[in-house]
Amino acid sequence: MPIVKLAKNIGFCAGVRRAMTIVEKTLEQRKTGIYSFGPVIHNTQVIKDLQDRNLMVARSVKGLPAGSTLILPSHGAPERILKSAAANRLKLVDVTCPNVSNLQNICKSLDKSGFDVIIIGDKAHPEVKALTGIAKKVHVIEKEPDIKKLDFSNKKIGIISQTTQNKDRFFDFVSKILKSNSLIKEVRIFNTICLDTARRQEEVKRLAKEVDVLLVIGSKFSANTKRLLNIGRKINNKTFLIESELSPVSRFIHKAGRVGLISGASAPDWLVKKIIKKIKGGV
Ligand code: SF4
Repeated sequence: MPIVKLAKNIGFCAGVRRAMTIVEKTLEQRKTGIYSFGPVIHNTQVIKDLQDRNLMVARSVKGLPAGSTLILPSHGAPERILKSAAANRLKLVDVTCPNVSNLQNICKSLDKSGFDVIIIGDKAHPEVKALTGIAKKVHVIEKEPDIKKLDFSNKKIGIISQTTQNKDRFFDFVSKILKSNSLIKEVRIFNTICLDTARRQEEVKRLAKEVDVLLVIGSKFSANTKRLLNIGRKINNKTFLIESELSPVSRFIHKAGRVGLISGASAPDWLVKKIIKKIKGGV
């Protein structure tokens, strides 16, 4: 049996745990007519379980029956959704993580103070999409070539990050943005990467060096899980994604003496426990 090295930060993060507690309470109290705007968290199995308990995932607010409940996800929702929910007389339950709300407030305040907002993050991620509706001038930097396309006519820029961005990449991009144009007169930089994300990224680097095989538990749809996977793989090419108890754990850990285990922020504790049991029980 291999030695299992567990990350300290594993299972749900505080933001997801809080969101799930509120969602579960809402499902218990209201029973029917409960929708979420997109998935409340990025984990396929958890969403499936919530759907089995009557939660309906809506892509749009249009057409939802008046009086029904709309849950805003942990990664936040665009302001236009809040407005249409009010217009459609929906009851809102907001489970946006406080770290995401803080990021939204920073974005609003930069906009109010006349700064262009530069977000370092994934263009298609709902958290980033919600931010782009908050400020008048927003630029999203996902890849290095995006920096070249920046328009510095304003000369006042505020740089923020998606909460689950890669920390090293954020600081690297900040430095490249600042070097890219001498017209910039005033800069405000906010490291809005959440503490849980930063801790998991440090842990994955340490674990990847200490073990023969590193398993990252989480969904392929979860941005923070994918980042842990990429960081781990750069150090240890035997880093694998475990999406469910059906993933081929035995094949991944074959002949490994030490196995490291970490998870994305939306991987449930029960799945972590099942995977540990599988490894210890010889699978
Ligand atoms: S990863 Fe961070 S920002 Fe996202 S829900 Fe968890 S604590 Fe909040």
